Parts: sequence; structure tokens; C-alpha cells
Amino acid sequence: MSDLLQKTNVINDRILCSWIRCKRKAWLDRNEKKQLKTWTSHRALQLDHQYKSLSAFMQKSPKRGLQACKEGANEVVGIRLKGRSPLGIPLEAHPPLLLKIRGKSSWGDFSYIPVVARQGKRITREHRLSLAFYGYLLTELQKKEVDHGLAISLGNNGLEISKVTLTKKIKSELFDALKNLNITLKKKELPSLTLDRKKCALCSWKKLCDANASKEKDLSEVSGIGSKRKHILQEIGVKDLNELALCNVDDLIRKLEKYGEHHSKIAEQLINQAKVQKEFVPKKLNSKIILPELKSAKGILIYDIESDPDVRHDFLHGFVSLKRNVNGDWDIKESKYEPILNLKKQEKITWSQINNKIKNLPNWPIIHYGETEVLSMIKLAKNNGASEEDIDNIKNNFIDIHARLKSAWLLPVKNYSLKSVAKWIDFKWHQKNVDGPKALLWWRQWINNNNSNLLKWILEYNHDDCIATWKIAEWMIKRNELSQK
Ligand code: SF4
Repeated sequence: MSDLLQKTNVINDRILCSWIRCKRKAWLDRNEKKQLKTWTSHRALQLDHQYKSLSAFMQKSPKRGLQACKEGANEVVGIRLKGRSPLGIPLEAHPPLLLKIRGKSSWGDFSYIPVVARQGKRITREHRLSLAFYGYLLTELQKKEVDHGLAISLGNNGLEISKVTLTKKIKSELFDALKNLNITLKKKELPSLTLDRKKCALCSWKKLCDANASKEKDLSEVSGIGSKRKHILQEIGVKDLNELALCNVDDLIRKLEKYGEHHSKIAEQLINQAKVQKEFVPKKLNSKIILPELKSAKGILIYDIESDPDVRHDFLHGFVSLKRNVNGDWDIKESKYEPILNLKKQEKITWSQINNKIKNLPNWPIIHYGETEVLSMIKLAKNNGASEEDIDNIKNNFIDIHARLKSAWLLPVKNYSLKSVAKWIDFKWHQKNVDGPKALLWWRQWINNNNSNLLKWILEYNHDDCIATWKIAEWMIKRNELSQK
């Protein structure tokens, strides 16, 4: 957002979208120092997807600006719409694309409707209100009512085009949103954290908000507490992590019963998790051996994939092969990283390379973190005509380290993602501030320009993810051994 906008009361489409995601985000965008923001790949990926969707949608090169509308160009970009809300709030918007349709406007026997790109499967409130916002300002400009807009998305099955009717209800929702957004922006104090902290993963204010939440011992810092559960706990008088850690189990079960069994039955787990986070000491939940499959294995494969969720494409299958050494120990320094790229339309080759690798190492367990890897592998195998035996082999040989960890340990971490757990056991990625979305951004850039550095960075990141998976497994094995001494 420009400094100019910060000094004015103008509401634009960007800040409206921020507010729809999180009221605090809109307030921070307007009022906080920009230096406190951190770059995330989310916006870059969103713009990349928008660019590809619009390019696939447009018939020719679009024309730019107001003059293009006056001349009746079929597709217009780079236009700035201005106006005021019914309450007089100054508004400004930059629609990604305007499309010419029939219907008399101030420019002639044609008019325009707004087009937005849709990421994800559904049309969300953000898409509806953005289209309504563009439609409202465009109506003023062209003197012709805009009664619908388009949400488009380029996915695996080509371009999807959805018509969004701008009903009276949506328009009134927009005006309410603009009024309430204006109230939020004028507040003196920072609005509270969003209840749904999953949204924070994509947000450029994450670092700042994480620090606040940790300092305030916010309930959302406790693993297992999402937006709904936080709300319920607050309703029954549990205000923060410290208070939860001090709760009596029976008392909490009784209070949570009226909200449903799925809440009351994890009351004890929540209290224990809060205690572990408060005291910063991990807790073993049972005495079972966590990875018995590794006891007699001569070697293991460590597996991690990188994916593009917009087109449901797993573009990289990374394997680390780790042999037991002559002393019977595992030494990750002696392991070998073997990435297999999955280029579009070459899935058969990818599957054959992976299948050969797995078959050449019979009885080597394959460890991975989270269920995505095994589900993707089964899908890849089925798509490429694998036998029932091969599929069973995958199901039997793959070991989900995340599931094993959760079944045996409570750790002082706010979530059990690979990044959080591995960082807690002091594993460091070679590259700073890299995550899956950034690797995806590099992948998309590499597809366009073949810059070998980009591929090198992706592989380095994926290799580190594999090693991090191993480090967590190793931590559990060592803890197991210690407890048996
Ligand atoms: S990090 Fe989360 S709470 Fe903070 S502004 Fe972003 S979405 Fe809202």
C-alpha cells in the first residue's frame, strides 16, 4: 500500500481483501510500520496464478486504461476506478480485467463487467465482494448497472469460468463490509488475533502476530486449539495457555460436554499439551517402541514431495537413501540424496523410476512426514497401472513419522508441522525463510526460464526436508533407547 493511501481515508480493493481475511491484518496494513512486514511467497504465487488465468482467458492482448473503455476494446486492464460508498467513504479499486459485453453505457452500445482470478476450488466471500466492489464503482463510471462478474481459474482441467451474479444481498454485504472496515481502520487499538490462526501461515504480519500471541500466551498457541475450540474455551472462562494448563481434567470434561464429545474427549490432552508448552518439557505418552520396523532394516528411504496445489501436481519426489553402517548405526552424513523430477506429461517415466527404486531396495522402510506423501504415491501408482501387490507394498512400507510422533509424544511446540518440530530439536535448514510455497514459486520460475540456480535451491530445500524428517525419527529412536536403559 502506498504511503499516500496510508495518509488518506481511502479504502481500496487490497485493504478490503485483507479485512475479509482478518480484521487485524487490515488495521496493520493501514497503521503499522511496513518494515515490520515479512515477505511471503503467497502474494507472488497469487499474482502468478492470476497472470496465467487471465492470459488463458483473453482472446488478444488487452488494451490499457480509460481511453480503451471509451474506444470499446474487448478487454481492458490497468484501469483505476474511483468513487464513494453510500456513506461517503472514498473508494479506489484496480480490477485485474474488464470484459466488454452487450448493453448500452455512457460509452456506446457496450458496457463492461469485472473479471477476477480464483485460486482454489470455491468462489469465496473475497471473490464475491471484490467483484461487487468493482461492479459498484464501474456502474458509476459507465452509467450502466453491473449485474454480474466472472471468476476464472486455470487448473488441471483447463480454464474454468464461473459467473457470479451481483445480487442485492451481495451489494448490501459489500456496503456493510465497507462501513465496518472503516470502523476497524479508525480504531486506536490493534484488533485481536484472528480466531483461525491457520490463515496466519500466508500473512506478511505473521512474525509480528506470532510474537504477540506467544507473549500473551494466547490459546491459539496451544496445539490442537483452532478457532472454534478457542472460542468455546473462552466462553467457559479459560482465557489463556497458562489457565488451561492449570485446569482440572474432570472439571474441563464436564464443562466441554455440552459442546460435543469431540471436545470433551480431548480435554485431558489439551491440558497436558498446555502444561508441556508452559513448562517447556516434552512428555512421553506411553512406553511402546515407536519405530520397530527400523530395528532389523538394513537401510531406509526418506521421502518428501514438493507440489503445486493449484494444478494438483507433485513436481518433485525427493528420496534420501540411508544405509545402516558396519557398526549397525545410522549416519545421515553417509546418506545419498536422489531427487526425481515429475515433469508434466512424463508421469509414466517418473513412476517407473520410483517403482524401480522401491523394488531395488526390498524391505527398506520408507519414512515420510504427514499423510500427503503416501496418498500421493498411491495415486501416482494407480494412475500408472501399478499392480495390487505394488499398491500393498506402498501401504505396508511407508511410515508416517508425524503420526508416530503424535501417538507417543507431547512436545512443547505450538503445532506438529515438520518445520516446528524439527526446529525444536534444533535442526537448521541451509536456506533462510524458505518454505513449500517459496519452493513452488521457484519451480514456476524455473519452468519459465530454466535458470539452473532455481532448481538447485528447490533440491536443496527438499533435501533438507528429508533430513529434517530423519532427525525427528532419530530423536524418537534415541529417546526410546534411553528409556529402555
Ligand atoms: S498474522 Fe494472522 S492474526 Fe496477524 S494479521 Fe495476519 S492473519 Fe491476522
